[in-house]
Amino acid sequence: MHQKTLTELIQSLQNKDVSSIELTQHYLDRINSLDSSVNSYITVTADRALEQARAADTLLANGEATSPLTGVPLAHKDIFCTDGVRTSAASKMLDNFIAPYNATVIEKFNQAGTVSLGKTNMDEFAMGSSNENSFYGAVKNPWDLERVPGGSSGGSAAAVAAHLAPAATGTDTGGSIRQPAAFCGLTGLKPTYGAVSRYGMIAYASSLDQAGPMARTAEDAALMMNVMAGFDAKDSTSIQREHDNYVADLDKGLDGLKIGMPKEYFSDQLDSNIAAAIDAAVKTYESLGATIQEVTLPQTQNAIPAYYIIAPAEASANLQRFDGVRYGHRCDDPRNLEDLYERTRAEGFGEEVQRRILVGTYALSAGFYDAYYRQAQKIRRLVKNDFNQAFDNVDLILAPTAPSTAFRIGEKSADPVQMYQEDIFTISVNLAGLPAISLPCGEDAGLPIGMQLIGNAFSDSRLLNAAHKYQQATDWHQRVAAFAKQG
Ligand code: GLN
Repeated sequence: MHQKTLTELIQSLQNKDVSSIELTQHYLDRINSLDSSVNSYITVTADRALEQARAADTLLANGEATSPLTGVPLAHKDIFCTDGVRTSAASKMLDNFIAPYNATVIEKFNQAGTVSLGKTNMDEFAMGSSNENSFYGAVKNPWDLERVPGGSSGGSAAAVAAHLAPAATGTDTGGSIRQPAAFCGLTGLKPTYGAVSRYGMIAYASSLDQAGPMARTAEDAALMMNVMAGFDAKDSTSIQREHDNYVADLDKGLDGLKIGMPKEYFSDQLDSNIAAAIDAAVKTYESLGATIQEVTLPQTQNAIPAYYIIAPAEASANLQRFDGVRYGHRCDDPRNLEDLYERTRAEGFGEEVQRRILVGTYALSAGFYDAYYRQAQKIRRLVKNDFNQAFDNVDLILAPTAPSTAFRIGEKSADPVQMYQEDIFTISVNLAGLPAISLPCGEDAGLPIGMQLIGNAFSDSRLLNAAHKYQQATDWHQRVAAFAKQG
């Protein structure tokens, strides 16, 4: 059962080959026996899951299902507030926090009658590229348990790759859906900024954060987007436009599609096996009717420095609310208010989060604002201009998702700057608010290689379509980690 994609599971539920209760119990049993090796879940909500499954079975039996996804179990990144469930963002600060309301994304999945198996592990407050920055311990990559699954949505990626959930939600501020999808052989979409509500999503860098699906195929991701996306009056950056149907155009032909290859992404530093996998993908696209041309994104090298000013600046503001007064961790026996703030925050936040708060506060301080924050904002505009120019000539951009395949746990954690370099191919997309999808396109020494397709704003359906057509022509997305074959 766990070999099946979301699309296949929907079919099984509709044919009554399996009930939602049976399916849910099957995944709960797998989590119980296998997740101790992967550490992909922070909280498993077994009772609630079975309750939701029972309700879904009733809807399915009465022909009252509200969505094709009714009865399907999913896992949600522990950054989405879930009413009555611990929502920790993988921080000690929120280890005792039971959310009193649902994020819009959770609410929408509830309304669609899906089942939530639990909340997945992540880098603390979504800061990281390896899932080593979690209060609940590192997550292991099911393809090789000594390697990282990527981050920050590493728990979601590992859960899906280990077949401990058919699909999951993630969030992407600088690559956190796409890079773990690449490292774990999955398909992950970072939607256009504003397409999916951020309401109830614990904020990291609000102008960059965006939630999206992490699944085994583009088709599965499209089905999830049909539930997740849409205008939400509770999110002031949500975009008011007609609801896209992400599934409708999946099968559209690619004849005449113009694909751009950004020359800055293909330097000598790119791993040669990744370059070869991308080359092969290009040939596949050509055989599907696409034409390829070079494009240039000259600001690429400035995107990391700009992001690592803007994101920490916003984070330092967003994380001010964790003060030991309102909710979350509070230090013991504070001597006075200052002591309460200081010790609460020193104890509650991990090292990387503290580093970001320091960098962000510094960059926003009166004397340095012009030198750092304002400069970074200017670069952000130039990054966007680069993409605007590229999209005058091409429909989509094809590039690697990450400069390497999954690296070893501990390999980069001692050097934050080396870790930040991981995001070189993903971060520009967030700065520009664009959609991008990562999908598997090869393997190197038994580890998945991911490529990414980047589109102009609101081309999310087009990206899913281009990814789906590729997946119909290739079988990289069908490769499964040996770990997932157990049980
Ligand atoms: N690795 C990036 C960071 O640490 C991106 C994380 C993310 O997308 N949430 O900020």
